Amino acid sequence: MEVLVAVPLPQTFTYHWPFEQAPRFGQRVVVPWGRQKRIGLVYGPCQVSALPEGMDSASLKSVEQVLDDGHLLDGAWRQLIEFAARYYHHPLGLIALEALPKALRVLNARGEEPVMVTKAQAHAEKRLLAHQQAAGVNAKCPEKDGPSPPTVANPPTLTAEQQAAVQACSVAAGFTPLLLYGVTGSGKTEVYLHAVEERLKRGEQVLVLLPEINLTPAAQALYETRLAPHRVVVLHSNLAELQRTKHWFEAATGAADVLIATRLGVLTPMPRLGMVIVDEEHDPSYKQQDGMRYQARDLALMLGKQRGVPVVLGSATPSLESWQKAEEGQYKRLTLTQRAVTGASLPKVELINTANFPAKEGLSWPAMQALVSTFEAGKQSIVFLNRRGYSPQLVCGGCGWVSNCEHCTAHMVWHKSERNLRCHHCGAAQRVPVQCPCCGNQDLTGFGRGTQRIEETLAGLLPKATVLRIDADSTRNKGQMEALLDEAHSGRADVLVGTQMIAKGHDFANVNLVLALNVDASLFSHAYRAPERLFAQLMQVAGRAGRRGGEATMLVQTRYPQHPLFEALKAHDYERFANHEMQARREARMPPFSYQATIRADHRTLGNCLAFLKTARELGDPLIQPDEPVFICDPVPLTVVRVGGVERAQMLIESESRPALHRFLSAWLPLLYEHAGSVRWFLEVDPVEL
Ligand code: ADP
Ligand code: ZN
Ligand code: ZN
Repeated sequence: MEVLVAVPLPQTFTYHWPFEQAPRFGQRVVVPWGRQKRIGLVYGPCQVSALPEGMDSASLKSVEQVLDDGHLLDGAWRQLIEFAARYYHHPLGLIALEALPKALRVLNARGEEPVMVTKAQAHAEKRLLAHQQAAGVNAKCPEKDGPSPPTVANPPTLTAEQQAAVQACSVAAGFTPLLLYGVTGSGKTEVYLHAVEERLKRGEQVLVLLPEINLTPAAQALYETRLAPHRVVVLHSNLAELQRTKHWFEAATGAADVLIATRLGVLTPMPRLGMVIVDEEHDPSYKQQDGMRYQARDLALMLGKQRGVPVVLGSATPSLESWQKAEEGQYKRLTLTQRAVTGASLPKVELINTANFPAKEGLSWPAMQALVSTFEAGKQSIVFLNRRGYSPQLVCGGCGWVSNCEHCTAHMVWHKSERNLRCHHCGAAQRVPVQCPCCGNQDLTGFGRGTQRIEETLAGLLPKATVLRIDADSTRNKGQMEALLDEAHSGRADVLVGTQMIAKGHDFANVNLVLALNVDASLFSHAYRAPERLFAQLMQVAGRAGRRGGEATMLVQTRYPQHPLFEALKAHDYERFANHEMQARREARMPPFSYQATIRADHRTLGNCLAFLKTARELGDPLIQPDEPVFICDPVPLTVVRVGGVERAQMLIESESRPALHRFLSAWLPLLYEHAGSVRWFLEVDPVEL
């Protein structure tokens, strides 16, 4: 019998099945693994021919214990994880087990299944029973019966554009990709709610993906209120383990009707799935950056295709991949051109040329004036700066010493609030030195500005204002993020300073001014996706202003006000930007007009990384079919070459044909497993950080 085990190897493992009852795919079992025990998943009958040489079935180790009957991990789920394993060329065992909550895949210290599994399962079964009874009662008129909602929800009357979009979502049958392209504040959420409601009436489940954990509390509250008495559960990595396990069981048994989740939720089995929604589909957070480097939006589309259900992708700034598909007619485009709230319009965008108005402590005087007058008018401002900490580096004025990280080719960032220097790459931290470690000079200064420093400047500029900082540091502890967002939404905070965390999705009522700082580095970045990202971020952060009407403004400080990206931003013209960018990508044969993968190699010495990649290339070249061109580029060290004492290099593989690229990878990768030696390597399909 073949068992999937969570190890970084591409094969399944053969065990003897000592039980009378026939095994079934997806059953969780305990198997001996070296001197330990592990949880595995039954995969299928063993191919005797596949047994390692010199082994017969009598010498096989036996499965020790069967933990469940496997019915939750059904054929549909199997299809999706098998696709993911094939497409991302990632070990199936890792994908399958890592898709489950930890309690279902890791034995406790005593080598037993954690008790919370039974608890969570019982909880879900009770809910499922209640659900089935309610469905029985409501069979004739599902939308009327059941307990009344906890709070009186007051849904707005849909605009004509929203109505048309809802209509299109409702009539969609079978796999239908829909691109809901709606400007910020156009009421996409309202469209989702109506579309979801429609599905729930038919007794179906809906999966709603959001890019950030911090968007889930507001979404959950809204969906629960509006869709009561239907059961809404959330899944994300910040949930307590028991909670996560319970919610997983509720989704997997069908006890829950709506699952709101971050990217990891896409691999949750949902037996009654009727629709998938991917909100802010352009968001880079849908890309997992370690382990299986998958793109949850793409998996959501595959899920929709396999299950034959509509997939709604929503955004004001769609990814160029999705935009291209809509242009080609592969996705049906639904457009919302206006803000939903009467009288609300998009903010006026103005550029502040820092050549004419030099910044003092990061702020030019027109920016300061705008902040002051917004505060005096009783409105909120957002200051957007994509860099956390106080200063990106600490330097010595005497000898030129710089706070470099010992383990990485990167500076340690000065975190004044936490009184330490921190490496954002490896996480190393140390106290701020009182004097220069090199020359003893006590005059150490911060070079450059992060959110903490701007927060300090703003506090000086607006001493009476409440300034809140929202970034990965200020929201690290449990509950901090909810508390900060609560302050922000309540209007008690006057100025919000933060990273892209505050740019996304939030429906702030009282923000009238957005100030974007430090955008120039991205204008001239080597990364080919940098303009797309910057444009989306600026459009999104602009979108937080003026959502309830009134004149709102966005100010951008830049040395390059002539840059074409700003022309499109000023006009709120995503399409102009997209067309311009698409033309450039087409000419350069970049995605979405070509397909890419990278091989990354990690080792203590860069030489070994490069040597491995060179060997890999030599092994790969003969496998390339003349009629299926695939290009293997030169191996190169990463820009930040050393992280945590490990050197990194990578090699890009490109093709204009996706099938050709994948055929090549399938033939090539098995050879790499054999030649890696002590080099750690991995493949990334559709890489984004290039
Ligand atoms: P988006 O996600 O498109 O940026 P939201 O869904 O957050 O926009 O909606 C923005 C605001 O508009 C919300 O406060 C929402 O309640 C409100 N809204 C949505 N639809 C309507 C409508 N038809 N009439 C009035 N207000 C609406
Ligand atoms: Zn010094
Ligand atoms: Zn480091």
